[in-house]
Amino acid sequence: MNGLRQRLIAQIRAQGPMPLAQFMTTCLMHPEHGYYATRDPFGAAGDFTTAPEISQMFGELVGLSLAQCWLDQGAPAPFILAEAGPGRGTMMADILRATKAVPGFHGAMQLHLIEASPTLRRIQQKTLGRGDVIWHEGFDDLPDLPLYLVANEFFDALPIRQVVREGGFWRERSVGVKDGNLSFGLSGPLAIAGLEPRLEDTQDGDIVEFCSQAQAAAAVIGQHVEAMGGAALIIDYGDWRSLGDTFQALENHAAADPLANPGQADLTAHVDFAALADATPSAYSRLTPQGVFLERLGIAQRTQALAAGLSGAALENHLAAHRRLTHGAEMGNLFKVMAFYPKGAAPPPGLNP
Ligand code: SAH
Repeated sequence: MNGLRQRLIAQIRAQGPMPLAQFMTTCLMHPEHGYYATRDPFGAAGDFTTAPEISQMFGELVGLSLAQCWLDQGAPAPFILAEAGPGRGTMMADILRATKAVPGFHGAMQLHLIEASPTLRRIQQKTLGRGDVIWHEGFDDLPDLPLYLVANEFFDALPIRQVVREGGFWRERSVGVKDGNLSFGLSGPLAIAGLEPRLEDTQDGDIVEFCSQAQAAAAVIGQHVEAMGGAALIIDYGDWRSLGDTFQALENHAAADPLANPGQADLTAHVDFAALADATPSAYSRLTPQGVFLERLGIAQRTQALAAGLSGAALENHLAAHRRLTHGAEMGNLFKVMAFYPKGAAPPPGLNP
């Protein structure tokens, strides 16, 4: 018996259909039953695997890109090294190891993590094993210092709204109850402020997704970088413009029905990078496919160097990890990288202006 499902059904019966964004937030972050709030979902035994969990090379190259960007901006001290949604803390551990050799970097750094889940905060603390980490719920209270931030598969976890076009109006998708089960429904036609531009690139019946939390986060991060210096690397699956239904559930490494088992499956949606670009007052780079980004940063050489110390199954896994991260048919194309950086500065290495 799924306790969260029963609660949602009772709440919807009492209060009416629930907007999709509220459903997503509840499923992911409910303090007792939420997916991220209560578990460590990563890795082979979990529900999904992310790039930093596939190979240490991912975090190492991200770290070196940020550190080179810091050097290019005159090595400001002190500065903030931050990660949004660090999961197990694996990528930050790899970033810290790879940047140890960059003169002055660790001495000038303050480490800040943006993480909503208490369970994952504990795991991050354990992975990093240091006493100087500062956790935040959001981006508003980061100190006024140059900010070098990375977010991998963070924006895809933020709650989206979905609307279906009907003439000059939109019907919003919500979660209701039908025959005792959760089911999708549609509101009456609405005019939704901010969606006017989407009337130009959509037709009747098209589904458009938007995420005000993602836009708000992009605005705060971008303002910070523009005012204080630094850069933000946003890595996620999605594209320049999102079109269609990308709301999906993953359970045990397989696609699942997002309404079937609330709190037991990861819920995500593709990232609409154009919406992030629109929200930031800073400069932003063109989208670079993850594979291209990593190849430019030297993942082939790093793969070779690490391969020299491996044999047998470990070597095969290592070579497979390189392929998985970069190949067009695997994560190389589906995942994109966008950077925010100050107007007039250069983008971090690996990205085009
Ligand atoms: N970056 C990690 C984890 C990705 S999963 C990796 O690549 O392996 C998404 C992460 O974002 C989790 O750590 C989750 O708890 C966190 N998260 C999701 N929504 C959040 C929110 N609204 N505020 C802060 N953290 C959030």
